[in-house]
Amino acid sequence: MSAIIELEHISKHYSPTIIGVDDVTLAVEDGEFVTLLGPSGCGKSTLLRMIGGFEAPTQGTIRLADKDVTFEPPYRREVNMVFQDYALFPHMTVGENVGYGLKVQGLGRAEIETRVHEALKLVGLFDKLKLRPQQLSGGQRQRIALARAIVRRPKVLLLDEPLSALDAKLREQMQIELKHLHEKVGITFIMVTHDQTEALVMSDRVVVMERGRIAQEGRPQDLYDHPASPYVANFIGTTNFLPGQIARVEGTTAEITLGGGRLSALLDAPLPAGTRVTLGCRPEKLRMLAEGESAANILEGRIAEVIYYGLGLRIAVELSDGARVHVDSLLPDRLARSAVPPVGLAVRVAVEPHNVFVFAGDVAP
Ligand code: ADP
Ligand code: MG
Repeated sequence: MSAIIELEHISKHYSPTIIGVDDVTLAVEDGEFVTLLGPSGCGKSTLLRMIGGFEAPTQGTIRLADKDVTFEPPYRREVNMVFQDYALFPHMTVGENVGYGLKVQGLGRAEIETRVHEALKLVGLFDKLKLRPQQLSGGQRQRIALARAIVRRPKVLLLDEPLSALDAKLREQMQIELKHLHEKVGITFIMVTHDQTEALVMSDRVVVMERGRIAQEGRPQDLYDHPASPYVANFIGTTNFLPGQIARVEGTTAEITLGGGRLSALLDAPLPAGTRVTLGCRPEKLRMLAEGESAANILEGRIAEVIYYGLGLRIAVELSDGARVHVDSLLPDRLARSAVPPVGLAVRVAVEPHNVFVFAGDVAP
């Protein structure tokens, strides 16, 4: 595989004080599905618009298929963008909407028809060819917008929050459909979202952004299991944070003292004894121990709150120093004996050393 897009030290300063994107270097492989993820205002759309040519960087170089396109207008790039509001023409049929761009390009009627039919079949809406956009549901309109973008056979498809206008159920379904569409067409997809689940479900690689910069990038599972900072651990999935200090290090294992006890953890990077750290552990990696059961790492506390969320329970446990951790329990029968434990109950919570993240510094987000 080779890089289809190369961003080198890309910045966009809207003004001396408003920095949209700050020194981003990123290569995207041909055929990859990459997602830019982060909270509102972190620079995702600005970066995407620069790739599309709708915005010029104030610094850096953008290469598309080895060609410098940094200052090329959108129509001179083999890139197509799907916008948040689908912007379909209401007076045109679905087929005419999808074929519009090809007509503007001056393609012949037969060629346009073949390509439009092909694109509509790809998104599963060939039978809607003759309808108008207002006769379709929101999800169908979104698929038409996708068909309109892929019909031009761009090398790269840019999608800015493509599913954000859809309701939760449809959105989930479209996530999978869009992923399958990507597999079928073989075009490189770069998508923007602020929804971490969406990013994890759909992408080959996720680029987490923080104030215009890349906080971390990697495969979904690597980001989830090895977040590089509390920011990433907090943005992807849910994480409990606890302040602590490294008491002892042996190989890659560290003993860490906390207000509410002591834990051992595996270090991703070496840290000396005495270092102040922030520990992170995910609620689903914590486990309530049954009476008499032992484990490597135990925190003691009392149940402060029990939240029912259908799939299971999220239990807030208050540790002896007053800090709280959330413990997820998928099935009530995984809890010791009774299904729903009462508030106030003294409990012991276990976590495996490899499921404790250790971040240097007093840096809880
Ligand atoms: P995101 O898509 O992650 O929400 P944006 O790329 O839209 O973030 O915005 C990044 C930053 O740049 C924000 O602080 C935003 O206010 C600013 N910004 C975006 N577009 C413009 C613009 N056209 N003019 C001035 N500032 C802008
Ligand atoms: Mg945006």
